[in-house]
Amino acid sequence: MYVIGLTGGIASGKTTVAQFFRDQGVPIIDADVLGHRTYEPGTDTFAAVVATFGEDLVADDGTIDRRVLGGKVFGKPDELKKLTDIVWPGIRRLASAELSALEVAGNRLVVLEAAVLLEAGWDDLVDAIWVVVVQPDTAVARLATRNNMDEEAARARIASQLSNDERTARADIIIHNDGTLEELQAGALREWESLQARLKQEAGRD
Ligand code: ATP
Repeated sequence: MYVIGLTGGIASGKTTVAQFFRDQGVPIIDADVLGHRTYEPGTDTFAAVVATFGEDLVADDGTIDRRVLGGKVFGKPDELKKLTDIVWPGIRRLASAELSALEVAGNRLVVLEAAVLLEAGWDDLVDAIWVVVVQPDTAVARLATRNNMDEEAARARIASQLSNDERTARADIIIHNDGTLEELQAGALREWESLQARLKQEAGRD
């Protein structure tokens, strides 16, 4: 089974590219969804996060309030590391289990979509790293539209992440997304077709 690790900075277009793959019938593992699952009430991760960051994280419905948690760690590298040390291993375990299940089910191609693929060291779970890249100004504009985020907050978010250069240095495939949605689709389609051709060639050699 061939696994694509799909990553990119905030508002780069990962979800849009993942949707393109979904439309081609490719199963997507979304690390963000797994992140929610790792700290569902009753899990060890839930207990560890609450013990580390305080009971005030727990919302009325008994789940962890991600906004409150985000406020406690954003811009505080030591606190953020405490959180990722708790959460990332759990996400990795779930991702590995899903990959195994998808392989057993006979899938030939799977996408692992993860904003922090490189930071968390999950790149060893994938065969190729696909990075979606936007210029910071584009990301700022899209965050204003999508999240109503002001420019200062958007730039702070972008600055807190890996830079485009750091990500692309480790990419096998780079998809630029400063143009229109149609251009993004066309770029994804080009890469998809060349991947299909490569996989077919490799299968022919086996
Ligand atoms: P995040 O990790 O921050 O959730 P993401 O990398 O998954 O973001 P998307 O959600 O795919 O990014 O895209 C961010 C926003 O920008 C969305 O509202 C999406 O519809 C929009 N967008 C993505 N690509 C384009 C484009 N080429 N033109 C216009 N809008 C776009």
